[in-house]
Amino acid sequence: MGKCLKGESEVKKKQAKFKCEKCGAMTQKKAHLCKPKKVKQNKSDKHKA
Ligand SMILES: [Zn+2]
Repeated sequence: MGKCLKGESEVKKKQAKFKCEKCGAMTQKKAHLCKPKKVKQNKSDKHKA
């Protein structure tokens, strides 16, 4: 569906909200991927107040 980053991530792994299951690109915008899959972020956030 539409465009895909084709393996070129837009954001760092930590910031990614979606990852393409097909090419592995990471982004915060679901629409940027051909096969987006929600990314679960690490719960251990040491910067939490
Ligand atoms: Zn893709």
